[in-house]
Amino acid sequence: MPRETILIDADDTLWENNIFFEQTIEEFLTLLEPLGFKREYARHILNETERRNIRQHGYGVRSFGRSLEETYMKLAGHNANRETVQGIHNRVDDLEKVPPNVLEGVVETLDYLSERHRLILFTKGEAAEQAAKVERSGLQIHFDAIEIVPEKDVATYRMLVNRHHVVKSRGWMVGNSPRSDINPALEAGLNAVFIPHSATWELEHEEVRSGAGRLLIVRQFRDLREHF
Ligand SMILES: [Mg+2]
Repeated sequence: MPRETILIDADDTLWENNIFFEQTIEEFLTLLEPLGFKREYARHILNETERRNIRQHGYGVRSFGRSLEETYMKLAGHNANRETVQGIHNRVDDLEKVPPNVLEGVVETLDYLSERHRLILFTKGEAAEQAAKVERSGLQIHFDAIEIVPEKDVATYRMLVNRHHVVKSRGWMVGNSPRSDINPALEAGLNAVFIPHSATWELEHEEVRSGAGRLLIVRQFRDLREHF
């Protein structure tokens, strides 16, 4: 196989990420139940608040903490108390300290791939926070470049293709999110490998659309060895 350029997503592709946020959300919903709010309803309000805050403040734990606080203030109203808000923020601070839990088979597979192809880690989020995660993961040694962007959309993929002189027919995006990894990459003319993760964040859900490039779907990261 000729040398390809493979862009690889990080959160929930190389390491677990969303399950820690989901655990925090579950605790948060439990906190709201005694105030008379059903979990589904509170989750709906939280999702709406997150969408708005992401547009204004981007991704990351700070933005997430802000959304939890705003949702709590909105739903608790005059029953809101300062200790609970502080508790929410303490819990969110802990999220940042969780060391990246690298998924099974990832290290060996990156070893294999990096000997044969050019690898670029491509993640979205708050720059300093994502950079710290990459560093703590120890996986950066496998990559020719690390790219951290505020949003992964078609324009960002085109920008990356230009910056790294990627020949699109020999360029791939690997990731777990149809919305951020697969659809915009295909639309930009790249090929894509979709590796579904059972805990993919609700805001990343989208139908996989076909595009100009090829689409592969594999079950786990180590399956990439069969294709590259
Ligand atoms: Mg991801």
